[in-house]
Amino acid sequence: MESAATDAELDSLVQDAIVWASQHGLVVGLGGTAPPAALIHAPLSLLPVAFPASRFQQAKAAMTTFNTLIDRVAADEGYLFDTLELAGQQDDFTGRLLQLLQDSKPARAAAAAAAGAKEVVLGVHRSDYMLDAPSGGFLQVELNTIASSFACLSSITSQLHHYTLQRLAAASSSSSSSDAAAAALQLLSASRLPSNAALQGICRALAAAVVAAGGPGAVMVMVVQPGERNAYDQQWLQHTLWTEHGIVTRRLTLAQIPDCLQLQPDAAGAGSRLVFADSGTPVGLVYFRLVHHVVADSGTPVGLVYFRAGYTPNDYPTDKEWQARALIEASTAAKCPTVAYQLAGSKKVQQDLAAPGVVERFMGQQQGADLRQLFAGLWSLDNITEPTTAAVIQDAIQNPDRFVLKPQREGGGNNLYGPELSAALQQGLAAGGDSLAAFILMQRIVPPPQRSVFVRGGAWGEDESLSELGIYGTFLRVGDEVVINEEVGHLVRTKTSSSNEGGVAAGFAVLDSPLLS
Ligand code: ADP
Ligand code: MG
Ligand code: MG
Repeated sequence: MESAATDAELDSLVQDAIVWASQHGLVVGLGGTAPPAALIHAPLSLLPVAFPASRFQQAKAAMTTFNTLIDRVAADEGYLFDTLELAGQQDDFTGRLLQLLQDSKPARAAAAAAAGAKEVVLGVHRSDYMLDAPSGGFLQVELNTIASSFACLSSITSQLHHYTLQRLAAASSSSSSSDAAAAALQLLSASRLPSNAALQGICRALAAAVVAAGGPGAVMVMVVQPGERNAYDQQWLQHTLWTEHGIVTRRLTLAQIPDCLQLQPDAAGAGSRLVFADSGTPVGLVYFRLVHHVVADSGTPVGLVYFRAGYTPNDYPTDKEWQARALIEASTAAKCPTVAYQLAGSKKVQQDLAAPGVVERFMGQQQGADLRQLFAGLWSLDNITEPTTAAVIQDAIQNPDRFVLKPQREGGGNNLYGPELSAALQQGLAAGGDSLAAFILMQRIVPPPQRSVFVRGGAWGEDESLSELGIYGTFLRVGDEVVINEEVGHLVRTKTSSSNEGGVAAGFAVLDSPLLS
């Protein structure tokens, strides 16, 4: 834009954007004490953010290789046990997931043998990146293998930004110079505002997994958190799975699963098919006169268990939630993710893959080198007496702003920065160092600052901002055959420069989209 919009112009555009968002399902639950159906527009950026086209294309191109990497790492359970052993001893949640991987081995083998059932594995991944201003590089923040969220709201955000840019172009052509109008129109070209079909792409993969593992009539179970605020991002998948693929979704919490689902013996007597149990408890919406139909639903096969919960220890308050996880793992239903995929996406594995030769061992020299270009500096804290580790710990204590200290957690808000990072490392050293194995150290990425108009809760403010690009990938393997390996769309989250973390659900960031340059 040649001339900055006035506050009054922005105010009017923000109001239009909020209405547009609400009318197009770009919404989140209000949460708190509000009724579950109370909605508000998602936190959003009014206009797209400038992003280099070459980096966007690089991230997209790497996605299918990352999908393959995760599948290979997850298949190498010996590697997972070795890499995560010390972290698992220090971090109960990681330890419990490893235990489940171990304990479920016989049941998984039995399920695989049952009537020649082929293993069906689905990955719905999101690989996140930031530009690094000091080095001019472009580096991966992390790769999510469980509950990768915002694909649907992000697809709609891309459309919203097409609309807001159009409005801006119209305002420029009526009020300012023709140069400004031409510049605004140029921003609207499709090559600069890439379309985003993450919603459709993920649904294609979900549907294929349901059918591959469950056959006709099978449903998808979406594992959800009670009181989830981001339920509408999930509901978009649910809705599209029904309208475009005719597949029904059942939303269940981990706590409900042991009562609602069971393993059913197949013809050979092996009990590995996941089906709805005859609990007498109606599941899902029950209408007058339809109660009987819904209760009689027992025996419905579950083709896919898709987790939008289960990534944090808070999702496992009792043993029942772990029972749910064991039941699912022992079944022939497709899981997104399996426990092995979840562990393959852990911070510790990310760090280990960056160690010399490791990603190359899984992917070969060429593809390994392509991925390695995207790796930031990552350091293990497993052995504090090892000279490189001892040196990097001292460096991080002295220069905490150059590092991020990460525990084995997902969902935002868990990392340590600045003085907290130094203090945690010093405490860890003072206690003998073993506890540090639950963490990894990462080079701090410093994206170039931009300016953004943040729209939250109906109000807007302009601030200096940093952005993080996410690329979605889907991967479906049936036995040895890779049926789907695709890059399906993107997400941009933008936060104020002053905040360390970037989660939208965690309240730090807003949904954004890239304006390629
Ligand atoms: P989570 O699984 O909780 O999302 P992340 O590794 O993505 O964990 O970290 C959360 C947020 O912290 C990121 O979205 C990003 O904003 C910030 N962050 C993470 N790693 C780095 C890093 N190396 N440099 C700068 N910021 C980071
Ligand atoms: Mg994550
Ligand atoms: Mg993240």
